[in-house]
Amino acid sequence: MKGKIIGVSLGPGEPELITLKALKALNAADIVYCPATRSGDGTVKSRALDILSQLPVDVEKVRSFHVPMSRNREEALNAYEGVCAEILRQAESGKTVAVTAEGDACFYSSANYMYEKLEQNGFPVEMIAGVPAFIAAGASVGLHVVKQRERLVVVPGDVLVEELLEAVVAKRTLVIMKVPLGEAVLRPFIARHPELQYHYFEQVGTPHEYYTVSSEAILSRVFTYFSVLVIQPA
Ligand code: SAH
Repeated sequence: MKGKIIGVSLGPGEPELITLKALKALNAADIVYCPATRSGDGTVKSRALDILSQLPVDVEKVRSFHVPMSRNREEALNAYEGVCAEILRQAESGKTVAVTAEGDACFYSSANYMYEKLEQNGFPVEMIAGVPAFIAAGASVGLHVVKQRERLVVVPGDVLVEELLEAVVAKRTLVIMKVPLGEAVLRPFIARHPELQYHYFEQVGTPHEYYTVSSEAILSRVFTYFSVLVIQPA
């Protein structure tokens, strides 16, 4: 009897923002895989594990795997390959395996590579939806991110000045994720466009949460990876 692989979304950080379906899947699973990053100096961090450890889930069945934080994508892919082979072995032996991802697992998730790989190896992965960070960010301060007929563009960090200007002209709302990746473009843009509204969020739903609408505060901030910038038209 073959087992099952489930892609489980954990939500953006606040443990209560996991869905009931995801929590049930974690409890039903035999093994729960959880991504962690290891930076150059050996420090291991895992947002997924931070969330999992605050949930009523048996920690004994959680296995974190380390993905190197390197510009060399090859190293990360090797790490994913290794863990995928292990997951496939578990599933083939009849186990139910949960593979977690923060926020929504189908929205700019690095786990996507693994889900694809597992599928390619003949194991369909059932996905469970979650709350993406930018949605939680809006709700955390009562910000209606888009309303009525407004349009939304989501940019994963590597923003171009042309697309910012295009959005301004078209009066679109922008959600910039992975803010540090776009800072060379974003900082001068924010300084040049005081007429727009900026909402900058960090670490939403965690004890390190930070929010500001002040351009000066944003410009003097050292951006962190877990940040979202919402730019609304004037
Ligand atoms: N799957 C995730 C996105 C992963 S990409 C989702 O659905 O939200 C990682 C990016 O998500 C970060 O660079 C940041 O822009 C955003 N992010 C994730 N968690 C966050 C949090 N708690 N607070 C602010 N931004 C967060």
